[in-house]
Amino acid sequence: MGARGQWISANFLTSRVEALSRRRDGRAILSREMDTDLNYMRVALEEARAAASAGEVPVGAVLVRDDKVIARSGNRTIRDCDPTAHAEIVVLREAARVLGNYRLAATTLYVTIEPCSMCAGAIIQARVHRVVYGCDDPKGGAVRSCFEVLSHPRLNHQVEVTAGVLGDECVGIIQSFFAERR
Ligand SMILES: [Zn+2]
Repeated sequence: MGARGQWISANFLTSRVEALSRRRDGRAILSREMDTDLNYMRVALEEARAAASAGEVPVGAVLVRDDKVIARSGNRTIRDCDPTAHAEIVVLREAARVLGNYRLAATTLYVTIEPCSMCAGAIIQARVHRVVYGCDDPKGGAVRSCFEVLSHPRLNHQVEVTAGVLGDECVGIIQSFFAERR
């Protein structure tokens, strides 16, 4: 097992513990899918933190297929001098290269913040099956905040969406990043 595999296993155990402790509290019983979502959102949060250390707006994304990470990245717009290098776009490009297919059927994209209109468009083009994101983006989110691209009835592909996974952590990273720059 590689280092990444071990890391994911360790986090899987952590989330099992959380699930059990929530049960003791009489709160939500987490399904296996929710455990999985928490694990991969933590990977996306790692990418967001790494982006912040590089001076980028801290957004992270991970693309998963068959419970395997195909690609992971943070925002790279400043480093790459590329206005399209949002974490989601970087990950979709890398995943298509790795899989040798520009259609990314049967994949789930995890991203720390609600995708913008550009990224939502790319998610549709790639035929991503499901998007899981952390916090809403009231200033540009294209899933439900400003536009509803991923569920638009005029498009020939609709995406399953789960919002609010580790949302407090995801918004906290962004807020502290901008607070430090004021
Ligand atoms: Zn974007």
